[in-house]
Amino acid sequence: MNKQTIRDVEWAGKRALVRVDFNVPQDDAGNVTDDTRIRAALPSIRYLLEHGANGVVLMSHLGRPKGKANPKYSMRPVVERLFELLPEAREVRKTEAITGPAAEAAATALGPGMVLMLENTRFDPREEANDPAMAAELARLGDVFVNDAFGAAHRANASTEGVAHFLPAVAGFLMEKELEFIGGALERPKRPFVTIIGGAKISDKIGVIDNLLGKVDALLIGGGMANTFLLAEGRQLGDSLVEPDSVGVAAELIAKARTANVRLLLPSDTVIADAFSADAARQTVAVDAVPTGWRVLDIGPRTVQAYRDEIARAQLLIWNGPMGVFELEPFAAGTRAIAEAMAEAGARGATTIVGGGDSVAAVEQAGLADRMSHVSTGGGASLELLEGKTLPGVAALLDR
Ligand code: ADP
Ligand code: MG
Repeated sequence: MNKQTIRDVEWAGKRALVRVDFNVPQDDAGNVTDDTRIRAALPSIRYLLEHGANGVVLMSHLGRPKGKANPKYSMRPVVERLFELLPEAREVRKTEAITGPAAEAAATALGPGMVLMLENTRFDPREEANDPAMAAELARLGDVFVNDAFGAAHRANASTEGVAHFLPAVAGFLMEKELEFIGGALERPKRPFVTIIGGAKISDKIGVIDNLLGKVDALLIGGGMANTFLLAEGRQLGDSLVEPDSVGVAAELIAKARTANVRLLLPSDTVIADAFSADAARQTVAVDAVPTGWRVLDIGPRTVQAYRDEIARAQLLIWNGPMGVFELEPFAAGTRAIAEAMAEAGARGATTIVGGGDSVAAVEQAGLADRMSHVSTGGGASLELLEGKTLPGVAALLDR
C-alpha cells in the first residue's frame, strides 16, 4: 500500500481523530444486532491507546438521518457496545455534539487512555455535502486524522475525505488490511485467478465485470444477473428477473471475454420456482427449458459442479454476489456450495476474498466466514475497488 498508516505517526502527546465505520445493524429498540464493524475497528483504537495518544476521538455515521438530529440514529447504543469491547480504555465517553465548542471542550478534556465518540456525523447536513467548513471544524478535534472507515471510503464526505485536507491523514489497520487484500489481489494476482460474480442485477456489476475481464483467468457468473447473459445467448427464461436494457452490454462482455481469453462460465442448469417464495413448487431444469410462469432462483447441481472444478484449480478467488435467492432456504444451495468450495480452496492455500453486503451475509449464514482469507467490511467500497476505481477517502491520505 502506498499510503502512510497509523504506524508512521509518533503518537505520544498527539490526539487522534479517527473516522470509523460504526454503521451497524440495529433492532427496533436500537440494540446493536451485529457488532462486526465495531470489532473491526478495535485494533486501530487499541494501538492508539497503547502508543500514548493523548485521547482518541471517534466519528462515524449511522443509518440515514438525512442531515437532521434523530434519536433513532444516535451513537449511544454503539458507544455502550464499544465500552464493553474495550475494557483497556480508561474511559469511553460520548458527546451529543459533532463539532463546535461542546465537541472541542470534550476533545480537549481527553487524556491518554481515553476515548470520545462524537454524535452521528450525518446529523449535520454538511457531512454528505463534503462541506469544507464542517471538515475544518472536525479537524480542530485532533492533531492527526486516521481513516479506518473502509466501508465509507467510497464516499467523499466531510468526515472521510474533507477532513484529510486539514490534518495530516493516515490509514488505520482495517483500511490497510482491506486495501492490501483487495487492492493487492488485483494488482499482483496469484494465478489461476478466478472470480465468482452474482447478485440480483447485471446493471449493478457491469463496471466490476468489465474491469475483472482484464485481469482474471476465469469468471463464473450466477445469480439473477446470469439471466441477462443467458438472454443475450438466446435462451428462454420464462418469468425470471431479466434486464432487457442490458442484453447488449451482456453480449459485449461475452465478446470481450473471448478476446481477452478469459473463460466466462454461465449456468448450464438452474433451480426454478413457480413463485418467488420459499414454499413455491420447484424443479431443476436446463437453462433452455424455463417455462412461462417459472423463474430462475438458484444455479443447478451441474453448474455447481462446473464452478467447483474451476474453484478447485484457483490460487486466488474473489467472490461478489450470491448465486441465488439465498435468503430463501430452498434456493440457498448454490450459494452455500460456492462458499464451501471457497473454504476448501483456502484450506489448500488459495487466497479467498469475499466482498459485498449480501455475499458476506451469505458466507456468515453458511458459518464459513472465518474460513476465508478476507471478508470485506465494506459492500459499496469493495465493489468500487473491484471496478478499478480510486476511493476518495483513500486518495486524500498522505502518500508513503
Ligand atoms: P452483494 O450485496 O453481495 O453485492 P447483490 O446486492 O448484488 O450482492 O445481490 C444480492 C441479491 O441478489 C440477494 O438479495 C439475492 O436474493 C438476489 N438474487 C440472487 N439470485 C437471484 C435470482 N436468480 N433472482 C432474483 N434475485 C436474485
Ligand atoms: Mg447487496
